[in-house]
Amino acid sequence: MKKEIFVGNTGIGGNHPISLQSMTSTDTRDTTATLEQIRRLFTAGCEIIRVAVPDEDALQSFKKIVTESPLPVIADIHFDATLALGSLRAGAHGIRINPGNIGSRSRLIEILSEARHRKTPIRIGVNFGSIEKKYRKPGVSKTEAMTLSVMDWIKFFEDQDFFHIKISVKSSDVRETVAAYRQIDKACDYPLHLGITEAGTFLSGTVKSAIGIGSLLLDGIGNTIRVSLTADPVEEIRVGKHILSSLGLQENSIEIISCPTCSRTSVDLIPIVETIERELASINPKGKLTVAVMGCEVNGPGEAMDADIGLAFSKQFGFIFKKGAMLEKLPPDQAIQRFLELVRQTETNTP
Ligand code: SF4
Repeated sequence: MKKEIFVGNTGIGGNHPISLQSMTSTDTRDTTATLEQIRRLFTAGCEIIRVAVPDEDALQSFKKIVTESPLPVIADIHFDATLALGSLRAGAHGIRINPGNIGSRSRLIEILSEARHRKTPIRIGVNFGSIEKKYRKPGVSKTEAMTLSVMDWIKFFEDQDFFHIKISVKSSDVRETVAAYRQIDKACDYPLHLGITEAGTFLSGTVKSAIGIGSLLLDGIGNTIRVSLTADPVEEIRVGKHILSSLGLQENSIEIISCPTCSRTSVDLIPIVETIERELASINPKGKLTVAVMGCEVNGPGEAMDADIGLAFSKQFGFIFKKGAMLEKLPPDQAIQRFLELVRQTETNTP
């Protein structure tokens, strides 16, 4: 089991469930827009938010963002130890640095001392693109180079009595990233932040993240995840939730099963399922809930009966099932509304 750290009140590692994070895409200096985006992410189910702090003006906004955010906030810092120290003093719940580019070792020691005093965790984020030259040797694979770099930084942090550590390694190559995480998982017991960096647009990023993050989660590796998409960060949370719920790793989730449609399909199923998915996105059930939406009366009822709540269509009716038994038969539009009502009536927490 990995060591436990806390980002605000959110535990990572130990026995804690895998948490979902995202990163704001607004200009941090625009405090209002950034807080508005954080609130949307909170409503979507995000549990930790990371905010870039690229300069002094952004640091001033960051202070207000940390105070007003409904989510624990991690400051993402590159190159500037002063900004890292400022973010810690502003009350950041965590900071993410690449120790190789944050300045001299003495500046890094200052950061570690401030963070230790505040018990604020630090993510060591090693990115192959910016790895130090000494690890880029002939005959040393990228995977080995990233692992060596991480292990050296862990030793440096530990030598400073600093143990609130989280690790990530990044390469936009899925195979390399997965291989590096597997090695680091064996080599250390600090919690791991999983992500495939610069994964791409909604479609390609979703596929790469599902393969990369999903493979590791299936191996039991990973304690917190961030799906990176060139898209609204709310989409990152939606995709992350789907990855976790597909693997049965989300304690509270709704899994939607829907048929691929075929010539037997009795209704215009695709927009119906899209509407249902949109409507259910804001519901946080207590526990796992499986719902099925099926397009015909041939194969549909079987799948609908297997789900906690199911809906199968014929041309004239929608048949609603709950826990294996048929409850009601209504005209399609009414059946959709009734189905949504039943899902909402299951014990829910609003995020
Ligand atoms: Fe076709 Fe019915 Fe199967 Fe949907 S459930 S794919 S409509 S046979």
